[in-house]
Amino acid sequence: PRPYPLPPFGNRFAELPPAFHTRLQPTPLPAPYLVGFSEDAAASIALPRPQADDGDFLDIFAGNRIAPGSTPLSAVYSGHQFGVWAGQLGDGRAITLGDLPAADGAGRIELQLKGAGPTPYSRMGDGRAVLRSSIREFLCSEAMAALGIPTTRALTVIGSDQRVLRETAETAAVVTRMAPSFIRFGSFEHWYYNQRFDDLKLLADTVLEQFYPELLQAGNPYAALLKEVTRRTATLMAQWQAVGFMHGVMNTDNMSILGLTLDYGPFGFMEAFDARHICNHTDSQGRYSYQMQPRIGQWNCFALGQAMLPLIGTVEETEAALADYEAIFQAQHEALLRAKLGLRTRQPEDEQLIEAMFAILQANHVDFTLFFRRLGDLQIGNAAHDEGLRDLILDRPAFDAWATQYRARLRAEDSDDQARRLAMHAVNPKYVLRNYLAQVAIERAQQKDFSEVARLQSILRHPFDEQPEHDKYADLPPDWASHLEVSCSS
Ligand code: AMP
Ligand code: MG
Ligand code: MG
Repeated sequence: PRPYPLPPFGNRFAELPPAFHTRLQPTPLPAPYLVGFSEDAAASIALPRPQADDGDFLDIFAGNRIAPGSTPLSAVYSGHQFGVWAGQLGDGRAITLGDLPAADGAGRIELQLKGAGPTPYSRMGDGRAVLRSSIREFLCSEAMAALGIPTTRALTVIGSDQRVLRETAETAAVVTRMAPSFIRFGSFEHWYYNQRFDDLKLLADTVLEQFYPELLQAGNPYAALLKEVTRRTATLMAQWQAVGFMHGVMNTDNMSILGLTLDYGPFGFMEAFDARHICNHTDSQGRYSYQMQPRIGQWNCFALGQAMLPLIGTVEETEAALADYEAIFQAQHEALLRAKLGLRTRQPEDEQLIEAMFAILQANHVDFTLFFRRLGDLQIGNAAHDEGLRDLILDRPAFDAWATQYRARLRAEDSDDQARRLAMHAVNPKYVLRNYLAQVAIERAQQKDFSEVARLQSILRHPFDEQPEHDKYADLPPDWASHLEVSCSS
């Protein structure tokens, strides 16, 4: 077959000493077929769409053929899982192929196969991923990118009829994900808890040189690194909260040292609002519930700080690097909420207005995405036009009282209906990856019809656009969706 035009891979991570990773070959995936492909992710590394029958593309991204320059490897890391030190974990089913130049000239992008077979870090797992979870990761990575939220990307999903056993028999798939780096908080913890401080330093120096070169000028570059990762994490948490994204497994081994959303498992988008909502069926304590995410983000930064302490030098400097988390989160979250409400200025009464709004969302289990989207259509002088919004809320008197207050607030800053609507619709998505939408696409894909994966992907590529022909993808979830459960089993 005609070779798929890949430039030769580089292997930046492979240059680290052998203790950091294990070189290995992916396990071949029988009779691979294309399930999904992202033009946007591909464009970011200047790769073309494969031709319909491009066996070379399928073989490379199924792990069946090693592309020129690639020295595949799995990385070791450790981590805290559900608040408990878990010791060594590592890429149990991820294999990094190497890195390719970013199309915009800004650095290199690593490509990693997820589900390409066992590695030395697989423990009890089979090294595979099922089609279901691979489609979810693929769609959500690309949806988050389109929402403007820092994330790893997904290039493609390759499926196979090979069976893998979970609760039920499912088929295997491999998703290729992309990021400048997949280094995690847990990568630092690994060397710290093994008391390998030279390797800890090497890891930190590598991260600084490759991803944060501007921090090398700082008086204490390690403290500066912790401070910057803390800032990015706090900012990311604010973005997650503002769009109603729930990660589900915020263990330190799933926290990106670049502040990216990393490792899509039992994630979810908030639908009927409940601040205590737990998207991961296996998280019985609700450690990673919606309302806990900001605090857990901070907890994870503290875990990273602990691991970096030998590099930074003193507890005082480490604490100082972590100190801004709460203020940054609050400021970012507040700014995002003000934008979601279409408020241009900042007023003392905003806090109360926003609190009262969340009380209504909570008490009435209002659909999070639809509420903000329809709020953007509100007209200051025309309460009769509120119908669509009011329909979402059972307690109409409570809503009307709040809307009166909101209108007064808008009038006070001379808000213009038309301008505000545009501004609000540019930050409040119409389309998010609701669980049931993913489920429909997955069930079709399990029947070998991949058109719904492509349709969802194309809708979620423009989450803020009206796309009236796809209105039903913005609807409330159907009744059957309330029984959907998502767990770590993927
Ligand atoms: P996660 O909860 O997805 O972050 O995974 C936690 C750890 O389990 C990581 O080290 C994963 O690589 C590993 N893991 C998860 N699923 C599998 C699997 N099917 N086979 C091997 N390792 C896995
Ligand atoms: Mg993980
Ligand atoms: Mg995972």
